[in-house]
Formats: sequence, structure tokens, C-alpha cells
Amino acid sequence: MIVITGATGHLGRLVVEQLLQKVSAQEVAVVVRNVEKASDFARLGVQVRAGDYNRPESLTTAFQGATKVLLISGNELGKRTEQHKNVVAAVKASGAKFLVYTSILGADTAQISLATEHLATERVIQASGIPYVILRNGWYIENYTENLGSALQFGAIAGSAGVGKISAAARADYAAAAVAVLLQEGPTNHIYELAGDSAFTMSELAGEVARQSGKTVVYNDLPSEQYAGLLKSFGLPGPVAEMLADADVAITRGELETSRRDLQQLIGRETTPLAAGVAAALRA
Ligand code: NAP
Repeated sequence: MIVITGATGHLGRLVVEQLLQKVSAQEVAVVVRNVEKASDFARLGVQVRAGDYNRPESLTTAFQGATKVLLISGNELGKRTEQHKNVVAAVKASGAKFLVYTSILGADTAQISLATEHLATERVIQASGIPYVILRNGWYIENYTENLGSALQFGAIAGSAGVGKISAAARADYAAAAVAVLLQEGPTNHIYELAGDSAFTMSELAGEVARQSGKTVVYNDLPSEQYAGLLKSFGLPGPVAEMLADADVAITRGELETSRRDLQQLIGRETTPLAAGVAAALRA
């Protein structure tokens, strides 16, 4: 039994869909806080179990019978170390033999604020004694392509990443890596640094969007305080705006760029290029 958390999220959905191409639905369970959102998986024969990272009591039976678990990191900033501790304790209690966790690229060296909770979670997993694999995921291409509408409307993409490079890959690539790790007899107690094969700057992103759309799109680099302010003026919650501005500053330090090819090696093919990600978003 392979149990996937966060299965109703963007990455988790792709993991379950790809997993179901390789194993039968009877071998898969999902742990989700909103079971209604997973009704399509239930219809396919996947066991849908209720579990909220915030409520340890909801997790006690959620991992029963699990041999392998994929813990997809939560999205509530500042709460995640406690949440993930709850999940790891429940996985440990279930007797599962393998735990895979989605962390962040360079979690142990990066100064990006997001790394703090991921590194703390990695330490909790390592201390648990459960054989593990950490998938240190780099940026998703979709972080940049999901909002192309406003880029096209305003003819500009804003950020504070300067000329920093981003080794992004598609969510589907990271999902394929998770599936490979769950199904292959690979090394345990191992950390992969996962990222796209090629890196781009924000200006190159804007150039690609302009090229494919035929419209003028430029990159406006802003001081990070100004960028955070702009994001807040668009309605983003303060902590999220601050986190995104902090991430861009991390990009200027090269923290989201790597020459490692772990992702390509795990999935056995090249990662999705930026141009393909932009094309998919413009088609949508
Ligand atoms: P996402 O769509 O926001 O999915 C997050 C998933 O976590 C959702 O299924 C959500 O459940 C679940 N979740 C959140 N809090 C929970 C809780 N208290 N109990 C149980 N489940 C909970 O994010 P994603 O795009 O799939 O990415 C997966 C994770 O990678 C994110 O959560 C975040 O940690 C990280 N991330 C990485 C990048 C990157 O570029 N590498 C970008 C953004 C995020 P619901 O469906 O009920 O909301």
C-alpha cells in the first residue's frame, strides 16, 4: 500500500495520476483533509482517508497498512514543522517502511526563508528512524506560467530576482520523480536535489512569453520591499508577499539554480523546458 498525502493539491494529483498508470488503484491510498475533493480518486478505487496535518488524532488511522508514504509538504507557512511532525509520528506508528518527503532545493545550505521549515522536517524524518528519501524540489515552471494573463495584460512581469537564474521544471517532472522513488528499489536515507536541466532568468522568461504570444512583455526588476508591496496591493496576504520577495532575493544569490541532474536521472528523460511550459500555459 502506497499512501500519498496532499493528493488534492497540484503536485499530489499528478503523483496519484502517474502512480495509477503503474500500479492498481487497490495499492494506493490518499490522505486528504477534504475527502470530497478526492471523490474522483475514490471512484477509481483509491482508498480516500481523512487526515489533517494539524490534528494528530485525525492521522492515527490514516496510514494504517502503509508500506510506503509520500508526505507532500503543506502550504501553511509557519505551521509546517509542527504539521509535518504530526505526520511523521503517525507514519512511524503505522510501521511503514519508507517515507518520501518533498523538501526544497539546497535545504541545508540555502538562506531562503522557506528552507527553515523544510530543513526542520528533514531532521524530524532523519531522527524518526524510518528509511527515507528526501526530494529537494526546485521551483516549478508553473510558478511563473500560471499567471501569464496579467503579464500579457500589463506587458510586464515584476520581481526582485535580478539576473539570478532559476533551474525550474514542470510539476509533472517532480511528480514523475516521486513516483520513480516510490516504485524503484533505489537507495534509502538518500537526498535528491531536483531541478530543471536548464536555467532561465526572469528577463529570459519575459522574452519567451513575448516570443510565443507575439506581445510586448518585459521584466521589471524591483527592490524587494517594493515587490512585496506590489504583491500585497494585488491582494496577497502579507506573509506570502514577503515570502515571494524573499525567494526572489534568494534567486539573486543563486539558490534556485543548480547543475545537478538528479531529476533527469530519476525520471529517465530530459526535464520540461521553459518554452514548453509557456506554450502549455498560453494554450490553456
Ligand atoms: P498545493 O496545490 O498548494 O497543495 C498543497 C496540498 O497540501 C493540498 O493538497 C492541501 O490540501 C494539502 N494540505 C495543506 N495543509 C494541509 C493540512 N493541514 N492537512 C492536510 N493536507 C494539507 O501545492 P503544490 O503545488 O501541490 O505543491 C506541493 C507542496 O510543495 C506545497 O504544499 C508546498 O509545500 C511546496 N511548494 C513548492 C513549490 C515549488 O516551486 N517547488 C511551489 C509552491 C509550493 P487541500 O487540497 O485540502 O488544500
